[in-house]
Amino acid sequence: MFQALPPTRYDLRFFIGDIPVRVHPLFWLIALLLGSSGDLLTIPIWILVVFVSVLVHELGHALAFRFYGIRSQIVLHAMGGLTIPEAAPLGFGWASVSPSPKQEVVISLAGPFAGFTFAVLVMLGVVVSGGTLLISRLFGILPLPLTAILPFGGNVPSIFVTMLLFVNVFWGIFNLLPVFPLDGGQVTRNLLIQYDPWDGARKAQWVSAIAGGVIALFALLVMRSVYVALLFGILAFQSYQSLQRRY
Ligand SMILES: [Zn+2]
Repeated sequence: MFQALPPTRYDLRFFIGDIPVRVHPLFWLIALLLGSSGDLLTIPIWILVVFVSVLVHELGHALAFRFYGIRSQIVLHAMGGLTIPEAAPLGFGWASVSPSPKQEVVISLAGPFAGFTFAVLVMLGVVVSGGTLLISRLFGILPLPLTAILPFGGNVPSIFVTMLLFVNVFWGIFNLLPVFPLDGGQVTRNLLIQYDPWDGARKAQWVSAIAGGVIALFALLVMRSVYVALLFGILAFQSYQSLQRRY
């Protein structure tokens, strides 16, 4: 579900600096499906927002790899993005290039925090250009500036920036939840492995299964989102299954 799809001849390929980026055609299709409730104007804006946001997120991971001297490539695929260290095969790499658990924590956090940093820069851009940020409350708890009104260019720039803020803040928070294979799940595993090298990975699977279940219920009852509830329900079940299989 979260693995890189094999290359096709319809892949879009480019470089950011010297970091290779590959975009699988299914990426556009899934982005389109996620935005399909919008109208003809907002769908293309939404697809651009998803593209930019996933790229910023993966660039965070890639730059953190780089910080530890590891080259990587970015793949945007059906369920989002992946940053794959180049010298290592998928999954468990070679000892010479595998980051330590502590480095893995930083690399995992770099994705969501790249998104948060980007959102802050966008908000600064809105304020500097004379626009307005409207603060909303997330689940009645967290105040988030989720609506941007720009003084120029009609509706389109405002819709674009509002969606950009929503995706970078909201998906960043979601990605930090301690559920596999989200970044928060990897952080939990690497933190637990440091304190408990023998049993940390198993404990992280339990955290993932329980947290995934609780979040699925929260999504259903509080957020009233069947989509989010299904997503976390499936992830919780996958964690539970791998506990049965491996331990
Ligand atoms: Zn990530």
